[in-house]
Amino acid sequence: MSIGQYSYEEYLSVVRSFHGYTAPGLAAGGFMVDLALSRMPDGVLFEAVCETRNCLPDAVQLLTPCTVGNGRLKIINLGRFALSLYDKHSGEGVRVYVDAQKVRAWPEVEAWLFKLKPKREQDCQLLLEQIRQAGPELYGIETVLVQPQLLGKRRRGAIGCCNLCGEPYPIDDGAICRACAGKTPYLVPGAEHFERPFDGPALDAAPLRDTVGKTALHDMTMIVPGKSKGAAFVNRVMKKGSLLEETPENC
Ligand SMILES: [Zn+2]
Ligand SMILES: [Zn+2]
Repeated sequence: MSIGQYSYEEYLSVVRSFHGYTAPGLAAGGFMVDLALSRMPDGVLFEAVCETRNCLPDAVQLLTPCTVGNGRLKIINLGRFALSLYDKHSGEGVRVYVDAQKVRAWPEVEAWLFKLKPKREQDCQLLLEQIRQAGPELYGIETVLVQPQLLGKRRRGAIGCCNLCGEPYPIDDGAICRACAGKTPYLVPGAEHFERPFDGPALDAAPLRDTVGKTALHDMTMIVPGKSKGAAFVNRVMKKGSLLEETPENC
């Protein structure tokens, strides 16, 4: 019984070094990926979906060119121990899942999958052996057509620097990055992160009409649509002139 280019034992040792231990889910996952691969036509550029976060994504990453990092493996957590490989362009592919009926014939696999006994009572060796003996028999396979929004090129928008943390982020996310918008996984002691001491000069906001002769904080560009685009002030010194007259009072 082999998995990809490996014998079962070789595969388990690769699993151990990549995943940390010989997880039964990865042993099963190896057969599942192998089964899916065997049904993909040669030369097709394919991508993968895993329907669980547990173990299975690592089997896909070990045995196919699809990884989370290269964008060819998506994890859509549906809680089912299943995966699909599909043609990146047409979306046609195969889905491999655990066949609950077939699992019943393998008591240690059944006990593991349905959590019928506490982990410490599991016979790990027997479990891995039953997964090996059963081979591809524990799984069902079906053809699938993947939803069109998962296909094709992923567009990447412009990148800017977050107004709060200063790190590069996709500006489609808004004026600040998602972390600063509250999605950070880290505990922020107090509000320290958001009140970074500002070591520049003390600044005041002033109405535009009161700024003549003063120096602006940053360069400004004046755009007259279809006519011109350029620096609005020389050396940032605010001058009475074109801009003031053309700008509404409350600016
Ligand atoms: Zn269901
Ligand atoms: Zn930020």
